[in-house]
Amino acid sequence: MARVFVITGPSGVGKGTLIRRLRSALPELRLSVSATTRAPREGEEHGRDYWFLDEDAFARQVRDGEFVEHAEYAGRRYGTLRSELDRHLADGAPVVLEIEVQGAQQVRGTMPEAVQVFVAPPSFDALRERLERRGTDDPDVIRRRLDVSLGELRQQEQFDHLIVNDDLDAATARLVGIVRDEIGRPSS
Ligand code: 5GP
Repeated sequence: MARVFVITGPSGVGKGTLIRRLRSALPELRLSVSATTRAPREGEEHGRDYWFLDEDAFARQVRDGEFVEHAEYAGRRYGTLRSELDRHLADGAPVVLEIEVQGAQQVRGTMPEAVQVFVAPPSFDALRERLERRGTDDPDVIRRRLDVSLGELRQQEQFDHLIVNDDLDAATARLVGIVRDEIGRPSS
């Protein structure tokens, strides 16, 4: 039964790690590769981690209606390409979107049947420590992401499921449980 799962929550909360673990547990789940205008980080590959687009190409695809959702996040643009999603759904496979909160809210409007999971940190300090420890962003970017996260955290109650990522194994087990239950249920 094809279904769409949206995993959202602030940057640094562990969405990527949880999704990697989720997909090891449920290999039939496909991950939609997003488009972004931010520069690739070391080790990231075009087409595997993101479709890295310049501003013009991104704007053109927005104009052409090629995004299911898109948002500006900390000064960069991110979006889910319809072609990515449709490719997996056409195979009858369930799909996971890892997106920030504005995008998740848009998906709620356009695909109310999508199952939405908000991943929250145990505390704001824990989020800051995680972003600093991860070392993928410079201090300015981290500050910006933390600022954005305050607004994101206020929206957590609006999602179907809330997982507090204080213990990675427990959080993974909850996420796997949620997705497994939904996949096993006839779609409405
Ligand atoms: P990062 O730059 O750390 O890879 O991603 C920044 C934020 O953008 C993260 O919260 C990530 O989940 C989110 N993001 C990644 N892809 C998309 C997308 O396609 N759409 C939206 N709205 N957010 C995305």
